[in-house]
Amino acid sequence: MANPAIGKLRCNTCDDVAEVRQQCNGERLLYTICPNCGMDRRSGAKVQAMWREQMVGVDDELPEGSAESGETPENTWLPDEQTCPESENQETEKAGTGTWVGLGIATVLAVGLAFLGVRYSGGRG
Ligand SMILES: [Zn+2]
Repeated sequence: MANPAIGKLRCNTCDDVAEVRQQCNGERLLYTICPNCGMDRRSGAKVQAMWREQMVGVDDELPEGSAESGETPENTWLPDEQTCPESENQETEKAGTGTWVGLGIATVLAVGLAFLGVRYSGGRG
């Protein structure tokens, strides 16, 4: 543990704060230590560049993962609002068809009852 933390970044896996340290020997590669995911010593150029880009100073504030998601709920919910009306319209059309069928059946029943009423009244008269 001779290497002091030179920065920190938000772990891509668990969103917790991971320490960024630098190897003293060799290529002075960065590596990260996440309290949940453990040490990440990948030496790939892309990983190293990503860490350098994402890391902040030890005393700096990391952008909160919750704050980042707090900006997007409206955008996140928009697609749902766009898809919901479609399904609602489909359901409304089905409901409308059912209503018309129900009205037709009610009309037939009413007419039939009216005829029956006429026949009964005529028989008695
Ligand atoms: Zn992690």
